[in-house]
Amino acid sequence: MKNNLKEIKICLAGNPNCGKSSLFNNLTGLHQHVGNYPGVTVEKKEGSLVKGNYKINVVDLPGIYSLSASSEDEIVARNFIIEQKPDLIVDVVDASNFERNLYLYTQLSELGIKVIIALNMIDVLKNKGQEIDCGLLMKSYGILAVPTIANKNKGTEELIKSVIDVYENKIDIKNTKIDYGDFISGHLQKVESIIYKDILLVAKYSVRYLAVNLIKKDKFVLEKIEKSTVSEELKKQGFESGDNISDKFSDSIDSVFADKIYTWIHSVSAIVIRTVAKSKYDVSDAIDRIVLNRIFALPIFAFVMYAIFKFTFTLSAPFVGWFESGIEFLSGYADKIIPEGVFQSFVVDGIIGGVGGVLGFFPLILFMFFAIAFFEDTGYMARAVFIMDKFMRKFGLHGKSFASMIVSTNGCAVPGLMAARTIESEKDRLITLMVTPFMICGAKLPIFALFIGAFFSAKDGANVMFIMYVLSVILALGAAWILKKTILKGKPAYFIMELPPYRMPSLKGILLKMWERGFLYLKKAGTIILLVTILIWAGLSFPKMGGEKVDNVSEEKAASIQIEQSYIGKLGNLLEPIIQPIGFDGKAGIALISGLAAKEVVVSTLGTIYSLGEVDPEDASSLSEKLQQDPDWNKLKAVTFLIFCLIYLPCIVAVAVFFRESGSKIKWLLFLTFWTTAAAWVISFIVYQGGRLLGFGG
Ligand code: GDP
Ligand code: MG
Repeated sequence: MKNNLKEIKICLAGNPNCGKSSLFNNLTGLHQHVGNYPGVTVEKKEGSLVKGNYKINVVDLPGIYSLSASSEDEIVARNFIIEQKPDLIVDVVDASNFERNLYLYTQLSELGIKVIIALNMIDVLKNKGQEIDCGLLMKSYGILAVPTIANKNKGTEELIKSVIDVYENKIDIKNTKIDYGDFISGHLQKVESIIYKDILLVAKYSVRYLAVNLIKKDKFVLEKIEKSTVSEELKKQGFESGDNISDKFSDSIDSVFADKIYTWIHSVSAIVIRTVAKSKYDVSDAIDRIVLNRIFALPIFAFVMYAIFKFTFTLSAPFVGWFESGIEFLSGYADKIIPEGVFQSFVVDGIIGGVGGVLGFFPLILFMFFAIAFFEDTGYMARAVFIMDKFMRKFGLHGKSFASMIVSTNGCAVPGLMAARTIESEKDRLITLMVTPFMICGAKLPIFALFIGAFFSAKDGANVMFIMYVLSVILALGAAWILKKTILKGKPAYFIMELPPYRMPSLKGILLKMWERGFLYLKKAGTIILLVTILIWAGLSFPKMGGEKVDNVSEEKAASIQIEQSYIGKLGNLLEPIIQPIGFDGKAGIALISGLAAKEVVVSTLGTIYSLGEVDPEDASSLSEKLQQDPDWNKLKAVTFLIFCLIYLPCIVAVAVFFRESGSKIKWLLFLTFWTTAAAWVISFIVYQGGRLLGFGG
């Protein structure tokens, strides 16, 4: 029996997020498999279904807005349709965005293959109080549109039936031929009459498609006609027509055509879309009208971020103070009860001085995560990505890259890097991977809090933090722009985000998120940070100096000689010539290197170093006070240090994830290492030396 089945080859085309995948699943059920189109990473989904005497093979094309071939997805979709010649195209149209979606329909219509519209999301349209008259679409335009609600599997059977009927010519549908007006039509006819001279071309391609795109100087079409017997004549006429049309309308040829298409689309929708009820008043829409407003969107976003930092820094300050006092007390207490010696130093300088320094900022972390969880749960963070999408396009990036950056800021670069997986274009993904580590993740936060607390007044703290945050975004965008202009050239693909409705967040939900992320911080402090701190402490305490070298000097001097002569101290001395031009001493160098294990370790290492250097536990002070008192530091150096921390190589875990996500290529790993280190040094150099020239920082 099976052999008697008639095979019908169809493909699903449509804008991203119009419900194509849902419809594909409705049609094919489990009979599908996913692969890649040859040579590119674009997904290729195929499946089939049997209906009566027919076997329908379905290909789900990538989501696209047009066939202008400005992205890999568009090229794949166009090549598939033109070269594989399906029997039918099902154009999935999001009815609630009818006009925008119809653009692709007009382009598909030109390809010379019958197109059926699956008019999806009619439930959404209905909620807007509107309806589309499918009968009229058929009667006036010969367009067959089958209403569907793909996520509820409604309309699928009707669609299948329509596919078969159209295939068997039981329904007569007409592909739309846009009326481009007399002037353009005249030129199209001239070009088409030449195409008709070459029978091979006519047999293989849609004449209208060739003519329109020849006039548009489309590369793909130029290639296709290259071997034609009339190729020279065609090109000459095509280009001449293109120039004439451009001149006549004094606009680019693409705009002229797009204009005509939209005129047609407006006239169609004016007739077939009906308002039948008052649109339900939508609070989310009302808020979005302000929040996503062309002019206010960016300032509001900046204000929200500012509010987050203000909230975090101002409200957490007393708690951080208490934590620090508690840790100082603990340190003094341990000093008293443990007899002087290596073990005392291990506990006081190593564990309490190091890990304690990181734990002191735990309240700050909680406040930060609380504020961020609040905006995430309201639905605002999704808007932030949407807002930044437009902005990022100017830098050749899209909003998905910003999504990675936000995830990184909201906690950790690792999930941020993994979020980049959703970016289809390999180049865009690589760029995103390269710049996401610049963001101030939860682990870098304590470094910023420490130095800002030490060198800026409480009043300025949140402002400086905000500036640092803005700087991190500027750095990431700038870096992306440079990459895009140099080694990773290409146009960003369009993407449409679905915005969830605004919701009043629940306190429980926020606290839960805050705790989940906060707990990770504690866990890290008790594991990797503790471990590295112990190693750092040991490296600073051994080999032990003794004898005459330290006999005749003050205790303070002896402590600093000990540090200098230790294993790690020697490493610091080696580093010094490299980092002196950017204002750092060996201590800073050691902290930066140890920070590769985990960024919080920068703080714990400084904690251990300063704790070891301190002789009198009676006047124990917090780490930020110690930094303040150290003549090797000043405001300018602190700012330079923070900028260096923004840019230099991410922690080892993030680097490992980067390696995996970038396709496990050593080349990219080396590139990341070199590029972040070099950029960190160069920019720090400019900031530090520039600052000194301007008279900052003594
Ligand atoms: P694709 O990007 O075109 O493949 O779209 P998907 O099939 O992934 O659908 C995008 C989103 O729209 C999903 O959340 C679907 O559940 C939802 N969706 C799909 N069809 C409909 C529909 O007819 N009505 C509504 N309300 N939602 C739909
Ligand atoms: Mg899909």
